[in-house]
Amino acid sequence: MTLEIEQIPVLTDNYIYLLRDTASGACAVVDPALAEPVLARLAARGLTLDLIFNTHHHGDHVGGNLELKRATGCRIIGPAADAARIPGIDETVGDGDETALGSARARVFDVPGHTRGHIAYWFADDQALFCGDTLFALGCGRLFEGTPAQMWRSLSKLRALPGATRVYCAHEYTQANARFALSLENDNPALRARAAAVDRAREQGRPTVPSTLAEEIATNPFLRADQEGLRRALGPAFAAADAVTILGETRRRKDVF
Ligand code: ZN
Ligand code: FE
Repeated sequence: MTLEIEQIPVLTDNYIYLLRDTASGACAVVDPALAEPVLARLAARGLTLDLIFNTHHHGDHVGGNLELKRATGCRIIGPAADAARIPGIDETVGDGDETALGSARARVFDVPGHTRGHIAYWFADDQALFCGDTLFALGCGRLFEGTPAQMWRSLSKLRALPGATRVYCAHEYTQANARFALSLENDNPALRARAAAVDRAREQGRPTVPSTLAEEIATNPFLRADQEGLRRALGPAFAAADAVTILGETRRRKDVF
């Protein structure tokens, strides 16, 4: 483990992650929605920014790119499939590529669905996954540019990682996601316990992110599209439906919840 991870809450519910590789001192941010809060933390800690890792092109993930690059001279790494929409991009990565922050190495996964070029960064040695708006605590991103089949394939890739992996998603949506998840699987004891813990954390102003992948697998409906409990929750019309259909229906219901 060489990675220090600081969570910077910005805007209404976004998280920027400030990473420092303790071995080399190299620093990066993941998905800087804004530049100013990052510059403030760098100054307060006496750090120099070397890299930006972007997961996808939405403004609340790349909004600080150009200003941070101007202010620090950092390099910007982002999805090859979406290079034209990532401001200031210097280096593109795609599925299976390896990238690094100093000695901390990350594997890249293509995870289309929320957007067509969305990627995730997995630091295996540090058990940390930066998945942007693909996988949320108890949820998943809206399907703006992708299909349920793409999203299910993307989520299945992430689900295959070790259960101890910490899920550093880009938004604090967990409490609302928990209410939706409970509307489906109210009889899932792990989900009920987690929803109560989420309520307590939010009452006390604490973040609910990161979670672990094992928690998500036990409670997140979008990772459970091939599980009997969720299928039953959707009703008799879905008794014989496949995981992609279940995922699509679950996403559709969440969109109007
Ligand atoms: Zn997004
Ligand atoms: Fe977002």
